[in-house]
Amino acid sequence: MTELHHHTLAELAAGLRARRFSSVELVTHFLARIERSNPELNAFITVTAEEALRAAEAADKRLAAGEGGPLVGVPIAHKDIFCTDGVLTTCGSRMLSNFVSPYDATVVERLARAGVVTLGKANMDEFAMGSSNETSWYGPVKNPWDPKKVPGGSSGGSAAAVAARLAPAATGTDTGGSILQPAALTGLTGLKPTYGRVSRYGMIAFASSLDQAGTLTYTAEDAALLLGAMAGFDERDSTSVDTPVPDYAAALDQPLAGLKIGVLKEFFDKGLEESSATLVREALAQYERLGATLIEVSLPSLPLSVPTYYVVAPAECSSNLSRFDGVRFGYRCENPADLLDMYTRSRGEGFGAEVKRRIMTGTYVLSAGYYDAYYLKAQKVRRLIADDFVRAFARVDVLMGPTSPTPAFDIGAKVDDPITMYLNDIYTIGANLAGLPAVSIPCGFVGQLPVGLQIIGPHFAEAKLLNVAHGYQRETDWHKRIPRGYE
Ligand code: GLN
Repeated sequence: MTELHHHTLAELAAGLRARRFSSVELVTHFLARIERSNPELNAFITVTAEEALRAAEAADKRLAAGEGGPLVGVPIAHKDIFCTDGVLTTCGSRMLSNFVSPYDATVVERLARAGVVTLGKANMDEFAMGSSNETSWYGPVKNPWDPKKVPGGSSGGSAAAVAARLAPAATGTDTGGSILQPAALTGLTGLKPTYGRVSRYGMIAFASSLDQAGTLTYTAEDAALLLGAMAGFDERDSTSVDTPVPDYAAALDQPLAGLKIGVLKEFFDKGLEESSATLVREALAQYERLGATLIEVSLPSLPLSVPTYYVVAPAECSSNLSRFDGVRFGYRCENPADLLDMYTRSRGEGFGAEVKRRIMTGTYVLSAGYYDAYYLKAQKVRRLIADDFVRAFARVDVLMGPTSPTPAFDIGAKVDDPITMYLNDIYTIGANLAGLPAVSIPCGFVGQLPVGLQIIGPHFAEAKLLNVAHGYQRETDWHKRIPRGYE
């Protein structure tokens, strides 16, 4: 008999509706797996066992009464960047290590209303700044495929929890690759929707013009289910877009014959490891067998995306993080001598090194003497990058390339070298700068480590992206592999 954690979210949802098992049984099963494996993986900062069981009981009542939509009773984990009413919400930082949120983020609220049960809050890079989950105040997360390796970041806890089958799905957020890159490094399907598709209300802000909430799941079908419940206009977030939410699940099975795929020339550069490149090319060949046409596409401004991002994102973060001052909420230093001492020590002790580096860079590029040279210039280049994508989507339906230049790297290998760490996101940042939706799906292994294929679409083309991802997943089984020790 297969075990409960061998199923996709869609299969679990169907099993609940058919009353093959209850939500309480399901939640109990995953809580036991978390209890056993979390001390090793460090994927969760907080486990909300009691609340989860209570929510599962309520879900079972709804199921018995035949009420609710397709997600009633399925458990997931939330990245600890989403505010959860009455529950510790740390954003991976000492600064918020005592912060119990007084309200739910819209994503949390919508999923709870759909009957989804929260198992706990997943570990993450501090304030979502990082690509390896090593900047977390709560310590690094291990990659279930190899405990010496990072799971990627910043949604590393979400990715490790789902890959190790401690939760059948998780939320994440993506500012410069923080859903796609960890999905690639842990063998999952990661979806970053169009900027504005999902409300950012209650999602602790890093870089507001880039941040977007999404999902880490086994399949595109699971992502479709969750996105349907998360997406949509929210009057509390003025950047959420008021456009109808399509039925993502209904579009999954459309045939791929005639699909025009743009193969991103700039992504197959010398930074891409050859073994990963081979797997991505094999995935492209699979799409050709499904009837798609490959067309080489060049985005000439794309190589500027990393420097552009590392001006824009720190600028926005330096402003967003000014609210953490030791006064209103969050960490405050012990025995401050005076007001200035309280501000400086609270921020000095509350933030880690990477966050401080970003705040200092951001403050610098926004300062009167340097604004034009850096911030304004970066905004202009951002527009050039976005225009490159617009031109490309006039010729092709989707763009494809690798998600990450290498598979998971060793814990500790890049912590002392920020530039090398930043270059990890070289293939993902473009979609964020242009506000485009993207997915990463597993397309093979180098040794025991998974590799991701990235698919980028035009604005609001999530249904198309999930359809394209699902078409591949019907023909392959990379997304079904389970790391050794977590079967
Ligand atoms: N790794 C990138 C950074 O450190 C992206 C992070 C993210 O998407 N939240 O900023």
